[in-house]
Amino acid sequence: MRRIHLLSDLLINQIAAGEVIERPAAVVKELLENSIDAGARAIEIEIEAGGKDLIRVVDDGGGIEAEELPLAIARHATSKIGSLEDLERVTSLGFRGEALASIAAVSRFSLASRSSTAHHAWQIESTGGSAAEVVPTSGPAGTRVEVRDLYFNTPARRKFLRSEATEFGYCDEVVRRIALSQPDLALTLLHNRRSSLRVRPQDQADRVRAVLGDDFADASLALDEGNPMVRLHGFLAAPTFSRATRDCQYVFVNGRFVRDKVIAHAIGQAYQDVLHHQRHAAFVLFLDIDPTRVDVNVHPTKIEVKFRDPQAVHQLVFRSLTRRLAQGRTAVPGDINVSEPPTPSSLPTNPSSARPATPVAGALRQTSMGLAVEEPQGLYRVLFGARAIDLSPPMVAPATREVPPLGFALGQLGGIYVLAQNERGLIVVDMHAAHERIVYEQLKCGLDAARVQSQQLLIPATFSVSPLEATCVQENAEALRKLGFDLALLSASTTIVRAVPALLDDADPVSLARDVLHQMLEHGSNHALTAHRDRLLATMACHAAVRAKRALTLPEMNALLRQMEVTDRADQCNHGRPTWMQITLKELDALFQRGR
Ligand code: ADP
Ligand code: MG
Repeated sequence: MRRIHLLSDLLINQIAAGEVIERPAAVVKELLENSIDAGARAIEIEIEAGGKDLIRVVDDGGGIEAEELPLAIARHATSKIGSLEDLERVTSLGFRGEALASIAAVSRFSLASRSSTAHHAWQIESTGGSAAEVVPTSGPAGTRVEVRDLYFNTPARRKFLRSEATEFGYCDEVVRRIALSQPDLALTLLHNRRSSLRVRPQDQADRVRAVLGDDFADASLALDEGNPMVRLHGFLAAPTFSRATRDCQYVFVNGRFVRDKVIAHAIGQAYQDVLHHQRHAAFVLFLDIDPTRVDVNVHPTKIEVKFRDPQAVHQLVFRSLTRRLAQGRTAVPGDINVSEPPTPSSLPTNPSSARPATPVAGALRQTSMGLAVEEPQGLYRVLFGARAIDLSPPMVAPATREVPPLGFALGQLGGIYVLAQNERGLIVVDMHAAHERIVYEQLKCGLDAARVQSQQLLIPATFSVSPLEATCVQENAEALRKLGFDLALLSASTTIVRAVPALLDDADPVSLARDVLHQMLEHGSNHALTAHRDRLLATMACHAAVRAKRALTLPEMNALLRQMEVTDRADQCNHGRPTWMQITLKELDALFQRGR
């Protein structure tokens, strides 16, 4: 053991860097926040080698006086607060005075700045935290920060950095967050001299479209609610634009991107009713609140906040979103859909079903379920024989086989349930949950046998990808092939999907491919096919499964029942809910007080 001694400033800064500057993206975030605090209208960001070689941020903000340059890179030096009172009502993004000191301690660092009153710019350089003299330099009003060879003096840290593309992906995400929250700021982002983002000042809606793309913007519902103390505004994607991961969830509190449990919980509750349990909502939400009602000083990277009145925030978010989602959805009539019987002329028609042929219209629109439809006429007769009095002779098959466990379909209820009859009584099947389970089990078997059938798309689909997603496509070509996909990069930001697993050829190929990529990104590519295989397959199955409200024909319903009978674990869906129920004749009799 050594004796107790004070740590050197350099070591203190390196320790702080470990906390505040965990990767190049954190440098980008801190530098951008400084530029915004300095009132910049335009910021240029240049990155090389994922930020490992160079991060340069140039702004046109207020600048720093020459004599303050050494202080700017000193620890605990800030121009943004001066007292506890200031801290309690802070409106700037920075206030801890440790970012530049931390960055300078683990890089070759240069800070050049010209304030509006100075005749020229001044510059200070620092190598691994030891600073040189302030010297004159050239440059326009504003500030230029260059961070080279990040972690060059802390090699253990440098080793932990991921690939260039991955690190750049994180940087890109940081810039996008800033871009979303500062629509009147012009931003350019270059990686290895290639442009990755370029936005001019615009209004909030246009900025959201520029940053998150047309798909999100077209699906989004604008929101603006609140009172003088607190305002919630932004955009919610309609539930149909749901995602497999939380990658499109942005919450800003007073302009700062945060992860907040209170808000997340309220959003989750608001979407609960309208979103499939396994899917994630997409949104960009801004909460503007009196700064004295929120504590931003709870985490070194300021990613968390604490509300003075969390309940009020929860309520505002939950109520506003619930209301907006309700308005946004078009009402779906929940009528009972009685499908046509399998042999139109032979079975007696129910007079009450002589309504306009809505089920038929539905049937024309619907896509195939991908289940083998085989109508066992003979078996049908076992159940319906007594009623099928006018079956023509060739149709009357001998009733030799038994009624299958799940019986035969009678019709569809509310577009959600399949009703069937077996020997014990009524069977009610949640068709979405059941089909999802079937596809999931089939995918598992296929993958185990290395035989996931692939289906070429008639019309290949393209979609835009982020740098992170693009790397994922490249790095996982083999894994994707095993899953039955044919995905390729057309350009740095465009991916084409040419084939999908045959079981899923019904699904929207783009959202399917996106979800699979996001799952791979979330769990790390190497693990996606092992540890997280089942989750990945469940995500895929979810795309295939028949959606609620889709009209099925009787043969399709029967095919579904037969598949359920031969599928493992078919009694519950992937999330543990039951897929079907039996209601016996006895129970029905009791309900109707028969036989008393
Ligand atoms: P903080 O942002 O918490 O104050 P930093 O270490 O990030 O701490 O920055 C220290 C100080 O340097 C800031 O308070 C600010 O006065 C000054 N500064 C940093 N970057 C800029 C910039 N781009 N333009 C003007 N001043 C800056
Ligand atoms: Mg700062």
